[in-house]
Amino acid sequence: MIAVLTGGTGGAKFVEGLARVVAQEELVVIVNTGDDHRWWGLQVSPDVDSIVYVLGGWLSAERGWGVAGETFHCLQTMRKLGEPAWFSVGDRDLAVHLLRSRLMAEGQTLTQATVEIAARMGVRTLVLPMSDARVETRVMTPGGEISFEEYFVQRRFRDEVKAVRFDGADASVAAPGVLEAIRAAEVVLVAPSNPVTSIGPILAMPGVRKALRERRERVAAVSPIVGGAAVSGPAGALMAACGLEVSVAGVAAAYGDFLGALVIDVRDAEAGESLRRTGLRVECVNTLMRSQEDKTELARAAIRAAGGRKQA
Ligand code: GDP
Repeated sequence: MIAVLTGGTGGAKFVEGLARVVAQEELVVIVNTGDDHRWWGLQVSPDVDSIVYVLGGWLSAERGWGVAGETFHCLQTMRKLGEPAWFSVGDRDLAVHLLRSRLMAEGQTLTQATVEIAARMGVRTLVLPMSDARVETRVMTPGGEISFEEYFVQRRFRDEVKAVRFDGADASVAAPGVLEAIRAAEVVLVAPSNPVTSIGPILAMPGVRKALRERRERVAAVSPIVGGAAVSGPAGALMAACGLEVSVAGVAAAYGDFLGALVIDVRDAEAGESLRRTGLRVECVNTLMRSQEDKTELARAAIRAAGGRKQA
C-alpha cells in the first residue's frame, strides 16, 4: 500500500497519476481538512472532495476543482435570495455536501461519511480526512484573522500574510487509520500541494510528524515550487510568511525532519545539487502535470524516489 498526504488541486492531479500506476485499492490518501467550512449550513470539505472526485472520475479537468459539466443554478438562486455567493458551489457538488451533512447529522464521523460517499461514487481507494475533529486553518492578515477560504476564495489571496495557524490542531487527534497507514505503507508520498496550508495542517496533527520520522527512508515529497515560484496559488507568499525560502530548499526545510527524498523539477537541477550535498536523495524530473503522461511519469518518479516497488 502507498500512502499519500495531499491537499486539493495539485494533490488531485498527482493522485490521478498514482491511480493510473497502481491499483486504486493499493492507495491510501490522507487529506487536509483545514479548509473545511460551513456553507449555507452544510459541511463542506473542499480537498476531500477534490480527491474523491478525481478518483471517481467526476473532477472538472478545466478548473481542477469541482465536478465536470457543472451547473450553478442553486448558487445563482442563493445570490438572488441575498445569501452569500462567493464560494462557488455547483449543483452536483451541492448534492455531495447535502449527503455529507445528512450523514454527519445522523451521527457519522467525517471519516465514515467520506468512506460512504467515496464508495457510492465507485472509488476503491481509502480516502481519509486527516482528522474527524474541527481543525481550522486561520490566516493572519493586517486587517485581522480570517479563515483559509475567506483568504483564498473570497479575497483571492490578495492580503499580506503575517502568520498561519491551525486552530484546534493541538487538542485534536488524527483520524482513525491515518497513523496506521503511515506506519504500514510501503512508501509515503507528499503530493505537490501547498506546504503551509495543505500539508501543514496534516503535519500539525499530533503524532503525524513522529510517524513520518520513523519512516524517513521511505518518505518522498514532490515540490510544488518550480523555478523559484509556486506553479499556482499562494504557496510562495505563504511559505515566505512562515520564514521559508520560496524554493526547493524551502520545501526541503518545511519537511526536513522526516524527508528521505525530494522530487524536484528539471528547472531546479542546480538547487538540487546543493540539496544532495546535505544528504537528501533528490530526483530531478519534469514535475509539471499538463498531460496524463506527465501525471503517470511523476507518480512513477515519486514512488521510485521513495524506494518503492520495481514496477513503478
Ligand atoms: P489546494 O488545496 O487547492 O490549494 O491544492 P494543493 O495544495 O493540493 O495544490 C496547490 C499547490 O499545487 C500549489 O502550491 C502549486 O504550486 C502546486 N501545483 C499545482 N500544479 C502543479 C504541477 O503540475 N506540478 C507541481 N510540481 N506542482 C503543482
